[in-house]
Parts: sequence; structure tokens; C-alpha cells
Amino acid sequence: MADEEQNLPSYEDLCANFTINVPEYYNFGFDVIDAWAKKDRNKLAMIWVDQKGNEKKYTFFDLMRLSNQAVNICLKYGIKKGDRVMLMLPRTPEWWIFTIALIKLGAVYCPATTMLTPKDLKYRIQAADIRMIITMAEHADKVEEIREECPTLAVRLMIDGVRDGWVSYPVELDYPAPCSHKLVNLPGMHRTKATDPLLIFFTSGTTGEPKMVVHAHSYPLGHLVTAQLWHDLRPNDLHLTISDTGWGKSAWGKLFGQWIVGACIFVYDIRGRFHATEILPLLERYGVTTFCCPPTIYRMLILADLDKFDLADLRHCCSAGEALNPEVIRAWEEGTGRTIYEGYGQTETVLCIGTLPGMKTKPGSMGRPMPGWQIELHDDDGNPVGIGDEGRIGIRLDPRPVGLFSGYLDNGEENHKVFSNGFYYTGDKAYMDEDGYFWFIGRDDDVIKSSGYRIGPFEVESALMEHPAVQEAAVVGSPDVLRGLVVKAFIVLKPGYRPTESLVKDIQKQVKQVTAPYKYPRLIEFVESLPKTISGKIKRYELRELEMKRFMDNNSR
Ligand code: ATP
Ligand code: MG
Repeated sequence: MADEEQNLPSYEDLCANFTINVPEYYNFGFDVIDAWAKKDRNKLAMIWVDQKGNEKKYTFFDLMRLSNQAVNICLKYGIKKGDRVMLMLPRTPEWWIFTIALIKLGAVYCPATTMLTPKDLKYRIQAADIRMIITMAEHADKVEEIREECPTLAVRLMIDGVRDGWVSYPVELDYPAPCSHKLVNLPGMHRTKATDPLLIFFTSGTTGEPKMVVHAHSYPLGHLVTAQLWHDLRPNDLHLTISDTGWGKSAWGKLFGQWIVGACIFVYDIRGRFHATEILPLLERYGVTTFCCPPTIYRMLILADLDKFDLADLRHCCSAGEALNPEVIRAWEEGTGRTIYEGYGQTETVLCIGTLPGMKTKPGSMGRPMPGWQIELHDDDGNPVGIGDEGRIGIRLDPRPVGLFSGYLDNGEENHKVFSNGFYYTGDKAYMDEDGYFWFIGRDDDVIKSSGYRIGPFEVESALMEHPAVQEAAVVGSPDVLRGLVVKAFIVLKPGYRPTESLVKDIQKQVKQVTAPYKYPRLIEFVESLPKTISGKIKRYELRELEMKRFMDNNSR
């Protein structure tokens, strides 16, 4: 391992030499999946395991043939280039088969989590003008409930079972004759321009209603940064990213960059109740070599007896999606001997700030801007701020980084807001240290202004996490007559701890010791759990609104 690390290019070398060439025409289905299938017929692409221990393996050759069949089925039901298709599937192999098929077809696919309610589904289908939905029998009722209110929805397909009004994948595959593995050659079908729309993602909805993010066919190439540089993937690696298929994160870690590099992906199909520790024996048994999961999962994993597992094959670990508290990195290192390489990005981007293997890690920092991404920190007027000063994260648009989204769908107002001054502003605040490392402060709306100070919730949360009783914490501003806002922490205690007055005092004392005392939470409330998005992110705005409501109620009496 030491040798390999010594051979890694330096960050400066990468910035000078790493480029991604985008051809005029590009199609991930043909140019990656089929290309591997033709080059190496036996090359393993995916190991799939479910919670019952069932296992399936797919080569690129299998995926080429299965996706061709799926293209033929879609064509048969009138789906063509440019049509929008929603994929609401769990981590079942059909998600990959249909994703590749829709990409080959030039249809615009839209992943959705199976956790959506009929109301969420209706909102999404209407907002994105969805023409076809692909799901499972157990979720068909939700679609039926809202179908009549969604006039664009012309085709419904279930990957299992049979139902009136629905196309059945198993039936299509075999009756009246086996569905062909060869593509029906339609004019124009095989050619997608790199600038053509590829997909529509819905953002996580951490700050309000999810937004629709459009990416072009060049987007998969942008994930070379995510997979090759950050996940440190090579062709004989086995990579696991924990993410629902409904989120952008699955494109980060379960599809594009991994397969462009030629690595194998490991899929753990989680359907029912999930305990993060279930994945530890899998990492061991399958010899997963590189691993990525969000901070919420790491926070659960470090509660396990990590040294019970033999993780010798695990070479490299990453985290993104939320800020990662240094305390979590410390505990993971202690239990596994591996550090965690942090990365920053959005549904709107690929990895754009990160810590790469070979780079010095600074626990609590996201890392440095990725090759191809020119990132600056600006004040509210669009002027660069100094070293150590808080600024808005801005991504320079010229030259446009490969993997940056095309824009929000049908949302001129939001596009106008985020694309300005020659930059795309991500909506997050950070500062840069003298070594060029970026440190996350908070989302624009989460920064607390109290008694003239500006306080980033993440720093306070990280200080709280260092207290032995604290499992998770969310920090928001709570309205206060005197100070405008005061810092308030909502805390979930570790098992075995009870909420008491003396514990409050002790936690406050601890924060004052590890961070500047003016940041300490004057108010602490112990809760059973924190409000989270279905992708597991803390919704601080709900807590903020709760505090505001309590304040209004108290003052109107
Ligand atoms: P919405 O835009 O709908 O409110 P969201 O922003 O949570 O939802 P995502 O695109 O899934 O949707 O998340 C991107 C956001 O996650 C970033 O803008 C940032 O706030 C946060 N994030 C991602 N990586 C990191 C990181 N390493 N450290 C801190 N925050 C991060
Ligand atoms: Mg966002």
C-alpha cells in the first residue's frame, strides 16, 4: 500500500495535468457498458446481495444484453429519445438495467426513491412531465392512486408481477417469444450529443421543496473525478457506496465513474429495517476495497465493535453529503486503522472539493478544489474574500467544469439566483485556510447571527459530538428578545445516558472548552431523534421554524 501511495500523483500534478475530454457525441450505455462488454466479455461489473443473503453477479456483457432487451421493450411501448421516464425502484438489478437502457435510448430518466408517498409522486410526475414510470408491484397502488391527476403518464411498467393496465417486464421478456438481445436499429437512436439532456434528479429537499436538476450526457464523464481521483478506483477494485437509488449520490458511487474506470460495484439491496452495522460483515466477506457513505451512517458504524471485523482489504474510505465531525473520523480511525477522505459536492455537481489519497487530510476540512473546478469564496457582492474569511462557495463557469448541471428545470427564478457574476453559487458558506483547504461553515440559511457574531452550526455540532454522551446534534438559532438569536442545540443522547440539568451544564462546559465560548449553546433540548430528509440529512430549517413558532406563541400570550 505504501508503494502505491508513493506512486500517486501530487495534488499539484493533478491540477496541472488531469483533464477530461468530452467528445461531441457521448453515450454512457454504448461508450462504457457495451465497450467493456466487447473488450472483455467476462469482466465483472456488479455483485448484488440482499438482506437475506441472496447473491447475483453481472458482467458488462450481461448488462449490455439485458439493457438492449429493456430498450426494445421501451420502444415497443412508444418511448423515444427525449421522453421522460421515472425509475422508482429499490437497489434491485433492474434499476441498473433500465438506467442503462434509458440512456441508450436517449430518454431522460428520473430516479425516485420508493419511499415517496402518492403526494410526492404526483408532485414529481407533474413537475417533470413524466411519460413512463418503472416500478415494482408493491408500489403500483401508489401510482394508481394519483394516475388520473397525471395526464402525461402514458406507460406504467412493473419489473415483477402482472396487473391490468401495466406492462409486465417478466412477461415482455418471454412472451410471445423471447425478447431480442439485439437492438432494433432506429434512426437517430444511437447518437446522443454530450450536451443532450441525460437525466433529471430531485435534490434532497433539505432546505425546502426538492428542485429538479438537469444533467447532460457528459455528466458521467465528470464523475471520473469522483471515482478515479477521490474513491481511488482502479479496474480490479470492488467499491461500495451506500445510497438509495433515488438520490444523486447513487450516480456518484454506484454507476458512472466506477464503470468508466472499469471497477466492480458492490450493491447491498436494503429494503426493510436497516442497521448500519449489517454492512460490516459484508465489507469483510466480499473484500470491498473502497467504501463511501454519508456521515449519518459513519456515526452509527462507530458505535459498533469495529475491531471484531477483518477489514484488511479495505484500502480507502470516503464521506460526503453533510459535514463530517472530526470526532467521527477519529473513532473510525481507531476502529479500522483507516482515515476518512471527505468530499463536497451536490446533486448539481460531481465531486468538486475533496481530499484525495496522497493529500494530507485535515479532519473537519472538506479538502481542496478538484482539478477542472475553479472555486472561489465571495462576499454578498461577488468579491473574493480573504484567507480565513467566510464566503459563499462560487464555481467559475468559464471554462465550465465537466459534470456541472445544465440548470434547474422550469425554474428561471432559481437559475437566475444561482448563476450570476460568471459563477454558480452552491448556497453553502465556507472559509479557506492558508494551505488552500476549504472548511464548511453551513448552508447560507443555517448560519446563526447572534449578538453581532456569526456562528456556523457545524462547528458547534462537532464540539458537541466530542462529549461522550452525545450521539447526534443539530444546532440552530432560536429567537431571543435581547440577543436576536441564541444558539440552541437539539441533542440525541447515546444509549445509557439520561437527560439531566447537570448533563446540560457539563455539555455546555465542554463546548466552551473546545471552541470559542461565545458559540456555546445557551439552550439545550434533548430529543429522541432529529428531523431528517428521507436521504438522512438533518433538516435544520424545521427546527428553526419550530423555535420561531414557540417564540411567537409565547409572546402572543
Ligand atoms: P436541497 O437542495 O433540496 O435543500 P440538498 O442540498 O441537501 O437539498 P443535495 O444535493 O443532496 O441536496 O446535497 C448537497 C448539499 O449537501 C450541499 O449543498 C451541502 O450543503 C451539503 N454537503 C455535501 N457535502 C458536504 C460536506 N462534505 N460537508 C458539508 N456539507 C456537505
Ligand atoms: Mg441543495
